[in-house]
Amino acid sequence: INTKLPTVGTTIFTVMSKLAADHQAINLSQGFPDYATDKKLIAEINQAMKEGFNQYAPMAGYLPLREQIAEKTQNFYQAIYDPESEITITAGGTQAIFTAINAFITAGDEVIIFEPAYDCYAPTIKLLGGLVKPFELQAPDYKIDWEMVKKLFSANTKMIIINSPHNPTGSILRKEDIDALIKLTKDTDILILSDEVYEHIIFDGEQHQSVALYPELAERSFIVASFGKLLHTTGWKIGYCLAPAKLMAEFRKVHQFNVFSVNTPMQVGIANYLSTSNIYLEIPTFFQEKRDFFQQLLATTKFKLLPCKGAYFQCVNYSHISNEKDIDFAQKLITDFGVATIPISAFYTKNVDHKVLRFCFAKENSTLEKAVEKLKKL
Ligand code: GLN
Repeated sequence: INTKLPTVGTTIFTVMSKLAADHQAINLSQGFPDYATDKKLIAEINQAMKEGFNQYAPMAGYLPLREQIAEKTQNFYQAIYDPESEITITAGGTQAIFTAINAFITAGDEVIIFEPAYDCYAPTIKLLGGLVKPFELQAPDYKIDWEMVKKLFSANTKMIIINSPHNPTGSILRKEDIDALIKLTKDTDILILSDEVYEHIIFDGEQHQSVALYPELAERSFIVASFGKLLHTTGWKIGYCLAPAKLMAEFRKVHQFNVFSVNTPMQVGIANYLSTSNIYLEIPTFFQEKRDFFQQLLATTKFKLLPCKGAYFQCVNYSHISNEKDIDFAQKLITDFGVATIPISAFYTKNVDHKVLRFCFAKENSTLEKAVEKLKKL
């Protein structure tokens, strides 16, 4: 049988979380919080179920939740998205990304991505016969050299995937990056898929440069967001996509036959919770404290810290500690030291090994302390 993804294995997140569990290691690999969810939010979800919100939601999502999203997008980014036709609730960010790519990419279409890149982009493109055009970012700050990116453009360039704050590196795009992207794609039909799932996790007073802030890009863009990251509930698998009506109509043609609609009580509960909570204000401070705390702890280890401006990931270089390949070194950290991380080579289509590991710091301070105590033995 001809298989469609011969070179694709199991996602690194599944592999490392399983290894962590098997060896009872502290799991700083897959990105998810280990602290409790807000009781008020859980009460809202329970209430929604009790009130009978247990049947299919509208295909595009529960309207009051879409209205909440429209209001938030206008407040943060001064952009108007029509809840009826331009916002769709999805089963997490990954489903939104998968659906946007599926709605437009066909065999031979080229998609530019920036590596290290979140691991779902390339396989989704390949599944459709699309061609991945990776641009390799360079440590330590993983800035995009747009003059060099220009060389990847061809008549077949259909889409560019950007991601800020960036998973796995924690780098962010700045206004000059977006200006360069606008200049490069001006007067083209190139679609932008902007993965902004960490939009509220940004540090040191930096401003998130949502594509929604730039109408000339937004008119060709899908923006992907995540409630899992906002509400510390990654297991609820709920997020959303924003796009102009014409693009969203195509997105929904795929969405309706993939998931049809997302689970109803979560949507109702989240909509009610957001109408009274201060979560958007609290979240940046909460994670700034976590990042600072974790960086201070890691400074007592041998690792060299890379800059982290956003998202809840801290990357470190270990080339001065060991010559082992990152995947082997990550495995050793689990088996011999009891701490699980993500090897960055998993985020490249090429075979590369820059000896960089990613830690997730969306954890209780005590978890971070315990992990670093173990890492100090290195
Ligand atoms: N986004 C999470 C991370 O980067 C993982 C999500 C997943 O496991 N699919 O760790």
